[in-house]
Amino acid sequence: MTNILISGASIAGTSAAYWLHRHGFAVTVVERAPAVREGGYKVDIRGAALRVVERMGLMDAIRARGTGMRVATHYDAAGRPVATMDADLFGGRTGDDAEIMRGDLNALLYELTRDEVEYVFDDSITAIADDGTVTFERSGPRRFDLVVGADGVHSNVRGLVFGPEERFVRHLGHYLSICSVPDLLGLDREEAVHAAPGRTANVYSTRHDPGAKAAFFWSSPPLAYDHRDVGRQKELLARAMSGMGWQVPRLLDAVREAGDFYFDAVCQIRMERWSKGRAVLLGDAAYCASPASGQGTSLAIVGAYVLAGELAAGRGPEGYERELRDFVAANQALADANLKGMVVPSRLALWFQLRMIRLLPHLPGRDRMVERVAGPIHRAANAITLKDYLP
Ligand SMILES: Cc1cc2nc3c(=O)[nH]c(=O)nc-3n(C[C@H](O)[C@H](O)[C@H](O)COP(=O)(O)OP(=O)(O)OC[C@H]3O[C@@H](n4cnc5c(N)ncnc54)[C@H](O)[C@@H]3O)c2cc1C
Repeated sequence: MTNILISGASIAGTSAAYWLHRHGFAVTVVERAPAVREGGYKVDIRGAALRVVERMGLMDAIRARGTGMRVATHYDAAGRPVATMDADLFGGRTGDDAEIMRGDLNALLYELTRDEVEYVFDDSITAIADDGTVTFERSGPRRFDLVVGADGVHSNVRGLVFGPEERFVRHLGHYLSICSVPDLLGLDREEAVHAAPGRTANVYSTRHDPGAKAAFFWSSPPLAYDHRDVGRQKELLARAMSGMGWQVPRLLDAVREAGDFYFDAVCQIRMERWSKGRAVLLGDAAYCASPASGQGTSLAIVGAYVLAGELAAGRGPEGYERELRDFVAANQALADANLKGMVVPSRLALWFQLRMIRLLPHLPGRDRMVERVAGPIHRAANAITLKDYLP
């Protein structure tokens, strides 16, 4: 039997574990964290990814854990509501699209696979030899036929096999930080937003969350900081948001206490090849589209399905690359345009954005406007025809 090692137990890694096991491969997953990681933003599952989670039998569980968001309201610096928008339109969702917390989805995928595949937590690969011998920080060496790097945008496998991150990363000129905070605003399945030129603060509470998540986006050139130094990252966030009105100072106070702090540059990974020797990359490790694309999770889910299917069909990583390239390119292309709406560069652009939100329900061409918001993401999300890999 072919032995496959997956590095990373997040969305890409657990999805690949499921499909590889279904195709009869022996699967081991190594995850650096001591358990499947919680936390993160709410994520959307759209288009082809919906078909994949249906085939995994997860659709009902995903709907049951859905965020149930109702509405998004923009506030000015003094705290006055200035524009309100339907939450689905705000998130670019239509039709069957599902929205769920990243951590909830990760937990569902882990539950689905934990009895079928071997999970090794609290460990990390240190080297992959040409003969497939893999060495680890803690476990003893083992031999695998293939190593799947599903270990995120700062992928360890990519670093070991393909070289330093700087060669593949495209910085999109923004940062993003997210964490759990108490529900200071008493939100009920709603999102509250305050934007200033170059900076946006956002807080929301979903159906199953007794607390809230605070999210901050801002424009910035690349910052130098230690990825493990959370204290320093919180300082950088506070500096980026300083002087903002609305509830931002209260939110920043709450962020100081937050345990599940996420902070990263908004960036993409672009590579000419996703496989080399005995290694193949999957999800953000190979083709991160950035949170601004709204498609990172769907790309990871679809990529896992295609990788496992192409390996089972005997077409190897080359078949996976061939099937997925155009789909990835279409989804990565979404990010730049979306960013312009997420972080507005000037007061004039902000005034225009809020005016459009206020007018939208009353405009005769409303459907055309909705199509302008949600159309590109839906075309990209469906830009692949999934093969039936299982009989
Ligand atoms: C805690 C967390 C919070 C996130 N929050 C957001 C968010 O708010 N918004 C957003 O758009 N995206 C977020 N993401 C990224 C989002 O999950 C991905 O864009 C998308 O789901 C694709 O997933 P992925 O599995 O390819 O990568 P990721 O979800 O990044 O998962 C990579 C996994 O690999 C593990 N890993 C890292 N290094 C090693 C190593 N050396 N050895 C073994 N395992 C390793 C990580 O712990 C993680 O479990 C978050 C990711 C994580 C892990």
